Amino acid sequence: MIDPDKLICNRACCVDVSGIRRAFHLGATLENPINLSIGQPDFPVPEPLMKATIKAIEDGHNGYTLTTGDQSLLAAVAAHLRRDVDWTIGDGQSDLMITSGTSGALMLAFLVLCDAGSEAIVPDPHFVIYPTLGPMTGPKIVLCDTYDDFRMTAERVEPLITDATRVVLLNTPANPTGVVLSDSDLSDLVDLCISRGIMLLSDEIYDLFTFSDGRGTTGPCPSPARYTKDMLLIRGFGKTYGCTGWRLGYAAGPPWLIEQMAKFQQYSFVCAPSMAQAGMVGAFDVDMSEVVDRFERRRDLVRQTFDGVATISDCRGAFYAFIEVPPSMGMSGTEFCDVAAEHNVVLIPGGVFSERDTHVRLSFACPDEQLAEGLEIVRGLMGE
Ligand code: PMP
Repeated sequence: MIDPDKLICNRACCVDVSGIRRAFHLGATLENPINLSIGQPDFPVPEPLMKATIKAIEDGHNGYTLTTGDQSLLAAVAAHLRRDVDWTIGDGQSDLMITSGTSGALMLAFLVLCDAGSEAIVPDPHFVIYPTLGPMTGPKIVLCDTYDDFRMTAERVEPLITDATRVVLLNTPANPTGVVLSDSDLSDLVDLCISRGIMLLSDEIYDLFTFSDGRGTTGPCPSPARYTKDMLLIRGFGKTYGCTGWRLGYAAGPPWLIEQMAKFQQYSFVCAPSMAQAGMVGAFDVDMSEVVDRFERRRDLVRQTFDGVATISDCRGAFYAFIEVPPSMGMSGTEFCDVAAEHNVVLIPGGVFSERDTHVRLSFACPDEQLAEGLEIVRGLMGE
């Protein structure tokens, strides 16, 4: 007789998805909810990219690609990174690979750099999968508490470093807070990691969504890649072009690291989806500034809404605000989300992303009217 309890190993047992599942369940049970919980863009894939991807299937881009990626896409990414972060090491190929989404790149990097006995420092709050990279690949996950300003600074990271630390995982602009680290925050982190022989992984999946007050002096999205090439830069296409389901991302780093990651990709994901790779070759030529400006206007509305009502994260990027449940309400994030759901609004409790459950994550990746309506309701509840 098959007994699942005997068969499911510790690695799986210690991963808890109840928080995020509960939040999705709440959304699914409401009729026509105002859903401010969604972590993916509400705009369609730009037409030229959609057409190019359909054509890629018709033209026969349906088989495996090289493990590290389609040559034309690699060349396009390399040219983009040269412009954007002055990424000039290697030949634009050995220092770069296309991955199955940003998550795929994170998983491969952890498989190469961390195993049992090692440690990886990740921010708290964090994107939901970060702590699960521990049980999935081996290291102990060490949380870097970034409350109340949500900045993962060198000052906060340094005391957490031990002889076992292999990786510091950074996310800017951040999920769930929208916080964008400054150039000086990033160069300090680079100095710290290099001086201690630790690999800095920078998850910049929201790089396009860096608003005017987050861009700093160096260009579109402040990135540690401008200070060193001895780090792993991870970015994606899913959020940028509204195609999260196409599972496409990329990683740039030292050739020794890319080579090891490619080895694991060969034996796991094999390659990223072929038609999406071929369809995205022209992606960096598509002007997305209208979309980013729209998201910035939504962000401004979120800020205005909570001004004087609740404390919100300094969201200068991504499409989230992390809002503290006013302490006078005496409610946890989870309790507040339950109340919001009674008023037909779906939010995600801070406890899904953090050891603490004092906040809620509000996503403004939703149509303008719905957002305005939802914000009024949440403000009303917080201002009571
Ligand atoms: N990193 C962060 C910070 C994210 O928010 C997400 C998606 N929500 C991912 C990675 C995963 O992205 P992908 O779909 O490209 O795997």
